Amino acid sequence: MSTTVARTRTDLLHALAGRVGRTGVVLTMGALHEGHTSLMRRARRDCDTVVVTVFVNPLQFGPAEDLARYPRTLDVDLALCASEEVDVVFAPAVEEVYPDGEPRITVDPGPIADQLEGASRPGHFRGVLTVVCKLLHLVHGAEVTYFGEKDYQQIALVRRMIHDLEIGVDVVVVPTAREPDGLAKSSRNRYLSADERQAAVALFRALRTAAESPDDPLAAARKVLDAESGVEIDYVELRAPDLGPAPTTGEGRLLVAARVGTTRLIDNAAVHITTPLSDH
Ligand code: AMP
Repeated sequence: MSTTVARTRTDLLHALAGRVGRTGVVLTMGALHEGHTSLMRRARRDCDTVVVTVFVNPLQFGPAEDLARYPRTLDVDLALCASEEVDVVFAPAVEEVYPDGEPRITVDPGPIADQLEGASRPGHFRGVLTVVCKLLHLVHGAEVTYFGEKDYQQIALVRRMIHDLEIGVDVVVVPTAREPDGLAKSSRNRYLSADERQAAVALFRALRTAAESPDDPLAAARKVLDAESGVEIDYVELRAPDLGPAPTTGEGRLLVAARVGTTRLIDNAAVHITTPLSDH
């Protein structure tokens, strides 16, 4: 079966007309890589109809961020979707998603959105949740949506929105796809120079070291990042798995964001904490 490309809402409605069974949707900003394909494969396994959206959402970029230079590789993305046997790709123009310009009513992402990524990127999650809400409505009848664990805070907020606003779509979380040396795959990795690419793996090393240092995972991660001169930490935080305050013992989540050259990268991992935390 071939992949149908829908550029407008009407195209999308036609493409989805007559489908039967379970519909799954993978929301992306394009520049697709193996992180995205792992979501598509999971959707292909679980669903009768797989829809991928490709949309670089201006609403989630701050004025000083990389909207204009965000990679746009639609032809390559479409070929990849076809090879993953995606049924429908919805790749709308900005005016198709926001026909009246910037929406006057948006999703308020609540208090978690001011922390971690949100502290560095004010308004980011308002933009993310607004477009996720719109796209889940535009893909009428989607029963399940797939998100990557790399964007851990995003998952927490999307789940919360779907629950609080009764959107009625299941969320399936897919583990982070990594390069052989551990760097999380990201559309932004292509900006890295060879030296920056080498430095960038410090994020993964920091998370791995933290996972191996249950007595003080946060300090262990910081030490690795501080030792890498090419990496400028934005935040490194230990939290509970639900992003509440870190427990003194038990399961935690370590989240990191850092600038490598002009490229901002994020990653996270589960950690186990075995002794009370010292005062960080
Ligand atoms: P993006 O195109 O960056 O907005 O990402 C679209 C979806 O792909 C989101 O659910 C991301 O969490 C997911 N994703 C991005 N990178 C990865 C990765 N390395 N592994 C797994 N999922 C990913």
